[in-house]
Amino acid sequence: MRNALGLMLASVVTAVVISAVWLFWTPSSPRLALAAPNTVAAPLAERLAAANPSAKPAPAREDVEVTAAIPETPAAPSPQKSTCANPDGLGVARVVVIDTTGGPGFGFEHFKQLDFLTDKEVVLTFDDGPWPGNTPAVLKALADECTKAVFFPIGKHATYHPEILRQVAAAGHTVGAHTWSHANLNSKKMTEQIARDEIEKGYSAVKMALGAAPSPFFRFPELQHGPAAMTYLASRNIAMFSCDLDSFDFRAKNPEQIVNTVMTKLDKQGKGIVLMHDFQKHTAEALPTLLRRLKAGGYKVVQMKAKTPLQTLPEYDEALLKDMKVPVSSARPIGSVVQTVTE
Ligand SMILES: [Zn+2]
Repeated sequence: MRNALGLMLASVVTAVVISAVWLFWTPSSPRLALAAPNTVAAPLAERLAAANPSAKPAPAREDVEVTAAIPETPAAPSPQKSTCANPDGLGVARVVVIDTTGGPGFGFEHFKQLDFLTDKEVVLTFDDGPWPGNTPAVLKALADECTKAVFFPIGKHATYHPEILRQVAAAGHTVGAHTWSHANLNSKKMTEQIARDEIEKGYSAVKMALGAAPSPFFRFPELQHGPAAMTYLASRNIAMFSCDLDSFDFRAKNPEQIVNTVMTKLDKQGKGIVLMHDFQKHTAEALPTLLRRLKAGGYKVVQMKAKTPLQTLPEYDEALLKDMKVPVSSARPIGSVVQTVTE
């Protein structure tokens, strides 16, 4: 009797196991599609798009003042809105919307026309990410202070770590671009075509990572403003970002040095667009202290957003997808490729 019961139980268990295996491996099973795609590129793009259908964030605070005449299109309610629970946080004092028509320039190191910040106002900007460890630490420091920044990711890095860049956008920060491979667009060897490729491929990579259009905000690698590239950016209605003060965080020996450099320059200049790198470990380490010091010093953060997103060029989107595609294996049956000759 006991044996019969055992046998019955064993049959039931076997049936369940067989069903599970069948479900996993049947062609109709969605898991199979994930487990063995014919090509990687197309499903990847779909997955990226599906993972972040709307990267458009809403302001995190109620008291945000939108200063542009034309407001942004209404964004979907953001889950971030309720997650900011630091009443003493640095926050966002003002959100400005930038009409990028004609490629306006910002940052007094190179552009003097648009002096839109008032005394004690700062814009936080971060270049060269997304990067594991450092970028998430920067995001956490900003979130802890309920404040927002502008990010200029490198296209290649966006393809390495798209999930981190999606976190940047999901947290409500502005995401522009910083070329595909951080090439110096002002070097003697740079051609107009290569410069254009660097710019466009960078934006296409950011778009692919986000599953949404980036902001038409651009920062030149090493702040090397190539004249031909500037003309091209203007023709694409992309705003150019230099800075008002450089943290020189990439050569800082420790986090304290970054805090001191930024605060000393800010106290002297009174306001400005601050250039930092979420790629740098010391920057990530310095940020909690720096944000506290900004708050204590009476500084206010201004977030810059674009009036309209950038339309990437389809030929660059497609070229990038092709680049990303893992080579498709041959259609020959395995027996014609691998033959056992001795056993
Ligand atoms: Zn850079």
